[in-house]
Amino acid sequence: MSTSSSMSSRSAARRTVHGVPIKCWCGKGLVVWASETKENPFRRFYRCEVALQRKTESHLFKWEDEAILDEVRMLDAKIMDLVHDIQTLSKTVSEQIDLHKAECVFKVDEHIKQMKQEIRQATRQMKEEVEAIVSSNTVVKPLADSGTTHNFLAAVAIVGAITCLYWKFL
Ligand SMILES: [Zn+2]
Repeated sequence: MSTSSSMSSRSAARRTVHGVPIKCWCGKGLVVWASETKENPFRRFYRCEVALQRKTESHLFKWEDEAILDEVRMLDAKIMDLVHDIQTLSKTVSEQIDLHKAECVFKVDEHIKQMKQEIRQATRQMKEEVEAIVSSNTVVKPLADSGTTHNFLAAVAIVGAITCLYWKFL
């Protein structure tokens, strides 16, 4: 670090540089100097490395503390932008989740409705089948009874015939 002469009126014509400068607008590198003026004793500043040799030209000058403050403000703005982006993203994601949830609920409702309909139909079919079986059993029972009666009568007739023949031949 070196010392420098006091600020000239030419500094008023300098261009605005945001944040901490990396190089001068002429393309040359920068040197950090410490001011020796009464107004800004030991205050550090960035100065183009060729500025001292080319005093008639306009080269970069910037107070270091202002540059750092600038940088912090720029970072703050970037953070605010990021926060805003995250909030927007979060809102979009939450809206999409809600939409998806609504679609899922609708699909599940439709599925339940369809299942209920199928259950109702199956129940109706089973009821019809049970009723058919019950009614057919009701019809079959007397038939079975009469069948048994017929068989019994036939057996009695056969036994009677055999007894008759037995008595006849003996
Ligand atoms: Zn320069």
